[in-house]
Amino acid sequence: MMLKADYPLERFSTLRTPFYYYDTSLLQRTLESVRAQTAAHPSWKVHYAVKANHNPVILKQIASAGLGADCVSGGEIQAALDAGFPPGSIVFAGVGKADWEILLGLEAGIGRFNIESTAEMHVIAQLAAERGGTAPVSIRINPDIGAHTLAGITTGLAENKFGIFHGQAEEVIREILTLPSLRFCGLHFHIGSQILDMTDFAALCNRINDLCNRLERLGLPVGDLNVGGGLGIEYGHPNHLPIADFKAYFDTFRSLLPPKYPLHFELGRSIVASCGSLISRVLYVKEGLAKQFAVLDAGMNDLIRPALYHAAHRIENLSSDGPEQNYDVVGPVCESSDVFGKGIVLNECHRGDIIAIRSAGAYGESMASQYNCRPLPPAFFSE
Ligand SMILES: *Cc1c(COP(=O)(O)O)cnc(C)c1O
Repeated sequence: MMLKADYPLERFSTLRTPFYYYDTSLLQRTLESVRAQTAAHPSWKVHYAVKANHNPVILKQIASAGLGADCVSGGEIQAALDAGFPPGSIVFAGVGKADWEILLGLEAGIGRFNIESTAEMHVIAQLAAERGGTAPVSIRINPDIGAHTLAGITTGLAENKFGIFHGQAEEVIREILTLPSLRFCGLHFHIGSQILDMTDFAALCNRINDLCNRLERLGLPVGDLNVGGGLGIEYGHPNHLPIADFKAYFDTFRSLLPPKYPLHFELGRSIVASCGSLISRVLYVKEGLAKQFAVLDAGMNDLIRPALYHAAHRIENLSSDGPEQNYDVVGPVCESSDVFGKGIVLNECHRGDIIAIRSAGAYGESMASQYNCRPLPPAFFSE
């Protein structure tokens, strides 16, 4: 929990804005909550989705807590290795794995390649054979399950580019079993992100059970099950609900999937979103014709989620207890979409006030760019 009063305003006053500020004790409590929900299952493994936040300090803290890493590029594999994630705990997904990325994974000895097409399967088989080794692979299944989330972040529908259609699983498993440089290890799923409705995960479990039953009837192996990530957080209530509902999430899989399968999870947002805030200053309060704008020194290059997905983050004026007013909170970037929120209620803003954009620890710093030749935002950590 980060109440307004908990932010170190004095420290912030010496720092150039914008920057990311991470509450590492909240991250620690979040990791402990994950551990509490999974400790009774030695065959379960939680992999942290590195793309949510690849800041090295954050990665090291998560690696120290014993999580594995879920990577979607060679760069992320390298970042995970550098942060101390054991190679065997690294899983690698993505529809477009380049040869150098596959080779990096093979050389490092990562735990799993989640293959997304038969074309990719043949390339991995060939590269592994050339090195005289074997590659551990799972099939990423497209379960054709829609998640009730933003259209830009649903991934498990047949129309999405991800995975191999569930009806083709048996023929792909049969082919993997004929390729001596591949070792078939299991099935992988990931239906989307920011999912708060557990019935979406229940629908995934039903699909998984149908598929596993079919494979077993055919005498084919299932291996382990990686159910992906996607658990959402409460962007509207960062102080009341700072830790995601891991109990409801893990209970869903605990109750709906047979215990004989080892389970893997890939959580990103729910681990790191709440612990990060984007801190900026009000540059100008601008009176428009019908509304007033709070113009910040942070922009869409620092935090693109509002512009990209119309995502709503809670915004707070840390410097003011003045009367509440409505503002359109905007950045300085030369795009009309550079808006953090419209009609946002803030304590009265003045030039120089410190503004916190909350729950920005996931898909914030990791998606920052230098658009408009703006410097990348630095990161600072609670003490
Ligand atoms: C992005 C991603 C995740 C993590 O998603 P969150 O919504 O951040 O939990 C997990 N698995 C795969 C394959 C992903 O691409």
